[in-house]
Amino acid sequence: MKILVINAGSSSLKYQLIRMETEEVIAKGGCERIGIPGGKLTHKAHGKTYVIEREMPTHTDAISLVLAELVDKEAGVISSMDEIDAVGHRVVASGEAFKKTTLVTDEAMVLMDEIAELAPLHNPAAILGVNACRAVMPGKKMALVFDTSFHATMPDYAYLYAIDYEDYRAYKVRRYGAHGTSHKFVAGEAARYLGKSPEELKIITCHLGNGSSISAVKGGKCIDTSMGFTPLAGVPMGTRSGDIDVAAIDFLCHKKGMTMDEGLNYLNKQCGVYGISGVSSDFRDLIAAKEAGNDRARLALDMFAYSCKKYIGAYMAALGGLDVIVFTAGIGENTPSVRRDAVAGLEAFGIKLDEAKNEAKGDGIREISAADSKVKILVIPTNEELVIARETAALL
Ligand code: AMP
Repeated sequence: MKILVINAGSSSLKYQLIRMETEEVIAKGGCERIGIPGGKLTHKAHGKTYVIEREMPTHTDAISLVLAELVDKEAGVISSMDEIDAVGHRVVASGEAFKKTTLVTDEAMVLMDEIAELAPLHNPAAILGVNACRAVMPGKKMALVFDTSFHATMPDYAYLYAIDYEDYRAYKVRRYGAHGTSHKFVAGEAARYLGKSPEELKIITCHLGNGSSISAVKGGKCIDTSMGFTPLAGVPMGTRSGDIDVAAIDFLCHKKGMTMDEGLNYLNKQCGVYGISGVSSDFRDLIAAKEAGNDRARLALDMFAYSCKKYIGAYMAALGGLDVIVFTAGIGENTPSVRRDAVAGLEAFGIKLDEAKNEAKGDGIREISAADSKVKILVIPTNEELVIARETAALL
């Protein structure tokens, strides 16, 4: 069975074709600059990279180009589209409309339109991606795989905000979380690596990338997560503020003459470690700047690690103990100093890092806790596309 995974953004589209029997990626790539001049497709297959520069006015043009490349005589990996058994689409927000992976139907797409406003930067792009695939591959089975589904198991006291309950009921304003496919994948991988069943474990999963979120996973189910109604909440991120007193936003909007929309744009795009450091949203740049003596880069890194540590402490309490901490995504997998600072001083809680193992580079799953640490600390490369493909295959 071969599953095509599609992750559509507003002007980009990433794809992977996965053979499910071996979970091997047969081909992958992405389209950039859809709808704007300078369109480009980068396609990787047979150990080679193929680049096509072509205008792609719409997502349908982009999907058509991807499919042409997948069946191309030289760069292709399949002889016809019939070899694709199904398509799995990544969708950021599900609201309360979808609790799990769902087959694409006309009815499901009506619901998708209704919840699009929950993630205005992401969900409309996913709808474009689905519609483009339906136009180019009519009749092909497709699944909607939501970033939020893994968090659907949170108890009401964890996902509710303390607002008027009738407003929650009317408008569904609550915590939904994000990065669910990643949290689910690494929690499962942690259990597999330790040779335990997920039911036995209390795990804190730290997905630290340009967007970051931390989840508490008990018995294989998410019981709390740091992102909220939107992916703006939680720890500070590349350019997102993370948690902030909303009254401070109102104050800032007045002072800077911003509308609420502009204020939200500011919190999403000009804050986080970028806003604090004034240097960059990229942690590699921040670490270089700190080493060169930039104190605001030092401050941004300290704030990030401190915030991660607070969530780890809070989730240890929520879980009633802790067996494993997992670090994943760009920063979690590649930045030892952040991992070190996020767990520093937690030895009293049985969390002890092995400094040398933490610094050592490596691929695959790595254990970086000290031999006498009660809590295992693992680095696990995430694989959101594989989860999307597995969910799609399971639905079929
Ligand atoms: P992500 O959003 O998961 O792609 O993560 C992006 C973040 O990971 C950026 O802040 C990068 O600086 C950081 N990062 C650090 N080292 C690496 C690396 N070797 N490869 C990719 N991202 C890295």
